[in-house]
Amino acid sequence: VLSYRHAFHAGNRGDVFKHAVMLDLLRAEIAARARTRVVETHAGAGLYALRSGKADERREWAQGIGKAWDAFAADVARSGGHGDDAEAKQSPGPLQELVRHVAQFNNSKKRQRLDLYPGSPLLTLQMLRDQDEAVFYELHASDMPVLQWHCASPGRHVLKNGPKIELGDGLAGLRAEATRADLEGCTLAFIDPPYEVKSEYNEVARCVLACAAANASMTIALWYPLILGMDRAETMVQSLCESLKTPWVDVREQAPNEGAGLERGMWGSGVLVVNPESRWLAQAGQFGDRLGRDAAQAFGSDHVVRLTLSPQV
Ligand code: SAM
Repeated sequence: VLSYRHAFHAGNRGDVFKHAVMLDLLRAEIAARARTRVVETHAGAGLYALRSGKADERREWAQGIGKAWDAFAADVARSGGHGDDAEAKQSPGPLQELVRHVAQFNNSKKRQRLDLYPGSPLLTLQMLRDQDEAVFYELHASDMPVLQWHCASPGRHVLKNGPKIELGDGLAGLRAEATRADLEGCTLAFIDPPYEVKSEYNEVARCVLACAAANASMTIALWYPLILGMDRAETMVQSLCESLKTPWVDVREQAPNEGAGLERGMWGSGVLVVNPESRWLAQAGQFGDRLGRDAAQAFGSDHVVRLTLSPQV
């Protein structure tokens, strides 16, 4: 039984960093390839109302996209949302770039209020070109039709082929992609599990290792949470980093002093990027610096962004 519902957490700090990294990977991927195929193993419902229903119950978004919005929405609005502003054009930081994307879902002419937060599939669709492809897996029987509906809503980018939305296990779907006989398979995979059960950490790690070994042209971005009193994610990432034969970059954000002031919950999160696109890899350090600067502006100067590169780099 799946009890995890992403709507409770949509737009929280983990989502914000995850999506900022994801947008930058997509940007690099699109620049590097004539055609991109994105597979999301855990797609969620696609779009979330922040001021009603589940997201409004815990208001986790207020500590995530709420803060990034407060820090950057005025700049985004000033530049017309298109990065026209000379300063923004030079270097819109990764969190500012995310706010620019989120603003497009909140573009009422009368006010710039944050009401809706797009999940990873809608952000992906916003980035892709007509010729690109996307496959979204979602296992929850209620979230999957909602995702379908949001992907088909007016204003969404209509890809020539899709997106393809599958009700099913995304890890199995990705393994099948990695071993496709033709070379036209997935080029960028996002793995964003709920980590509801203990066994998921091992399943995810096995899937990442199998896909990385089977397909040298696939970039895999794996999100993980850092939760007080639970080191499963860190153990998983550490063992992955030791086992991987391909280059990787670990981008991590964390509260000061590993969340020492918190009583429970998530003190940080990370994205492990396996086999990154070569130009993204070459500039990963600068990306980390820019993310760190934006994080300081939105979440406070003691909020830490740490980037670790694999020894092969
Ligand atoms: N990636 C989404 C985003 O950033 O907007 C959020 C995804 S949420 C963290 C995880 C989702 O995975 C949930 O909607 C859950 O129902 C779904 N899920 C859980 N196990 C799955 C599986 N084995 N395959 C596909 N989806 C799964």
